[in-house]
Amino acid sequence: MSILEKGKPKPDMSKLSMCSKQGRRTITRSFSNSRFDEIPWLTGCSKRNKLYCWPCVLFNVGSSVWTKEGYSDLNHLSLAIQRHEKSKKHLEADFSLKVLGLQIIYTAVSNQSLETLTVSCHSENVRANRKERVSSNSAERLVWKCE
Ligand SMILES: [Zn+2]
Repeated sequence: MSILEKGKPKPDMSKLSMCSKQGRRTITRSFSNSRFDEIPWLTGCSKRNKLYCWPCVLFNVGSSVWTKEGYSDLNHLSLAIQRHEKSKKHLEADFSLKVLGLQIIYTAVSNQSLETLTVSCHSENVRANRKERVSSNSAERLVWKCE
């Protein structure tokens, strides 16, 4: 089964935590694994103890904290999530992944190759990007090196 069919990894990230001072008190914030279900694109690496964006990693869109370094600032997580969700590159990657997901389902049903399929909702442009960025090899290469 390919990485795309398996879907995004949801490792146990409960060790990801962060302390911050509020007056005299020190507050420890820990990552809640239920966030993986709430936010469809959020994934993580338990070895690096960092969070990543699944579609952006798969489609290798630029280098940002969500694709390369990994995100770990729990104090600003909600804001960072909102900001990332609105970014153009993320929206494109997310859309491409959905289109690809449709094609994989369709392929499983019809047993045709990806190249013979047409999905009416995507443009030639997106398809060209997909071919370039997500040949099955490149997707495998992008698979978490840390797992
Ligand atoms: Zn993203």
